[in-house]
Amino acid sequence: MKHSLDILPLSSWIDTGDKPLVIAGPCSAETEEQVVSTAHLLANTGKVHVLRAGIWKPRTRPGEFEGIGSIGLEWLKRAKAETGLPTATEVATAKHVEEALAAGVDVLWIGARSTANPFTVQEIADALQGVDVPVIVKNPVNPDLSLWIGALERVNRAGIKKLAAIHRGFSSFEKTAFRNEPMWDIAIQLKTIAPELPIINDPSHICGNRELIPYITQKALDMDMQGLIIESHIDPSIAWTDAKQQLTPGALSDMLGNIAVRQAES
Ligand code: PEP
Ligand code: MN
Repeated sequence: MKHSLDILPLSSWIDTGDKPLVIAGPCSAETEEQVVSTAHLLANTGKVHVLRAGIWKPRTRPGEFEGIGSIGLEWLKRAKAETGLPTATEVATAKHVEEALAAGVDVLWIGARSTANPFTVQEIADALQGVDVPVIVKNPVNPDLSLWIGALERVNRAGIKKLAAIHRGFSSFEKTAFRNEPMWDIAIQLKTIAPELPIINDPSHICGNRELIPYITQKALDMDMQGLIIESHIDPSIAWTDAKQQLTPGALSDMLGNIAVRQAES
């Protein structure tokens, strides 16, 4: 499969030294206190480069928390001002793009449900025309490499060269240990087709529970993925979304420490 991607390296938009990029933060922004206190704990670990928090949450079924909305952008702004961490949030419409950029969000990501819809991706890409912001594109919910590459191409054609992919696993009707099947071979194919495209692993959404996260994280790094996006909540037991898969900032820090040790030993 051919592609027409023209991409700048991760180092063009974030300095991580020789370490993998770590994006961490709550699945959802819930309250100002939760966002700001989580950000401080994450910043204090010294292992996190970007703070993530979902403001607009596309949910599979109606009737669940669909995100705090625009007010959360103010909380991200405060978290960044107090900790110095750049911020990232999910955008699913042109309006989200405009609001996030106006609020100074540093990195935008396109969620798995959006990547699966070319009209949605095109709407987001059109809103990004002429803007210089890093965009990371999650794989579509379904195991379709063309849809993933197509979404990356649409954003890239809008002029975004600070581009990366997020491997967050794929939906399957069959129940396995994972919430979303990693299907590593799809990420390997993407890497083979577009070696210059940074791939960031999302162990949180692959695993669906925190116990499996170290295993997937280690595997992703062993496969030379260039970064991680991991959900972290100050108190996962009371998280409004994805409670089972979130790590406290302390647990995240411990895990990243262990992973680094194992890497150094190998
Ligand atoms: C998220 O990152 O919280 C999220 C909704 O992820 P995904 O789009 O991968 O389901
Ligand atoms: Mn989540």
